[in-house]
Amino acid sequence: RIARSEMCTNPDLDESFFTFYHNLCNDISTIFHSKNPSFILAGEAMLGLEASVASLCEKDDRILVISNGIFGRGFVDLVNIYGGNCILYESDPLCGIDPIQLAAFLKKDANFKFATIVHCDTPSGVLNPIEIICPLLHQYGIISIVDSVSSSFSVDIDVEKSMIDILIGGSQKALSAPPGLTILTISETAFQLMKQRKTQIASFYCNLLNMKDYNTNKAFPYTMPISDIKGLSVAIQNFKEDTTVFLRHQAIAKATREAIVEYRLSLYLKDQYSPSVTVINVPDTIKSDDILNTMISDHQIMIAGCFDVLKDKVIRIGHMGENANIEDMVLTLSALDQTLHKLGFKGNGNLSEIFINNMNKEKTSI
Ligand SMILES: *Cc1c(COP(=O)(O)O)cnc(C)c1O
Repeated sequence: RIARSEMCTNPDLDESFFTFYHNLCNDISTIFHSKNPSFILAGEAMLGLEASVASLCEKDDRILVISNGIFGRGFVDLVNIYGGNCILYESDPLCGIDPIQLAAFLKKDANFKFATIVHCDTPSGVLNPIEIICPLLHQYGIISIVDSVSSSFSVDIDVEKSMIDILIGGSQKALSAPPGLTILTISETAFQLMKQRKTQIASFYCNLLNMKDYNTNKAFPYTMPISDIKGLSVAIQNFKEDTTVFLRHQAIAKATREAIVEYRLSLYLKDQYSPSVTVINVPDTIKSDDILNTMISDHQIMIAGCFDVLKDKVIRIGHMGENANIEDMVLTLSALDQTLHKLGFKGNGNLSEIFINNMNKEKTSI
């Protein structure tokens, strides 16, 4: 917060800003174990998703949209906007994408320019095995666009090993920085495909080639939001200093899931749970809105409902970034326990106490 109120230079003229921006982008590439360059764009994470599709997709290009959730499917709209011929591969929303089934599909049809996949599909909390899927796509010469907005910085992502061509993150999820910036790590292959287009990229703001050579040219395509980027750099610094960040997310998520089950609520998913969010079925006898409203009115704690096909069906507890700490989880689960009691649901035991016991069992050094 304080970093965002620092004195600002003119980011279009001051060479020191290019160095600052470049170093921060290098830090981000290092965090993702990548030699590929990273970029910070002035817009919420949706800009990263749209810019990737806009820069790669030409009219009638065959594009594979791999989906097992609401956000996964959302790429269909983006591909359609840019004239692509979208082929939707859909699988069970309760499970992670199965690489074996996807491999069988690709054996029959692999003529795609690129594929899109969401790492953590936030509405359901499923975490897809991109470390197997993206190398599989590569075998067929299909480059990958991975939406890791709600997983990056809570799960360790290895862009190099996982052969991810475009990885997209955002400032406002596990980094706990203000919304408004998107982060992309982009492979040379992806840039080559953008350069080899027959038609021009139909956008200025979404044209990733306009960003590519900012450091050699000492020019950005538009003025960078320097205050937001200073804030982001502090969030990245905090992240780098936090040596147990991934373990803590995992331990909290696991203890939460086990507590939910022991308490006799049920989890939405069957497997492949993201460590950043836990998604819980709303009991038949209670309305989702009543849970959310009571949590706010009685406890001043905001948890999430859902939308689209999951509207009113599930509630979601986000435990990413600054929210991934034991104290906040105990407060939240204790409030949820009391809320459910008030609404007539009788759980097995005390939700927050079960969570604490589970955390003690985790015995990790967090
Ligand atoms: C949050 C998020 C986005 C960005 O969506 P907004 O609703 O604009 O915040 C994109 N993808 C995923 C997986 C997300 O969790």
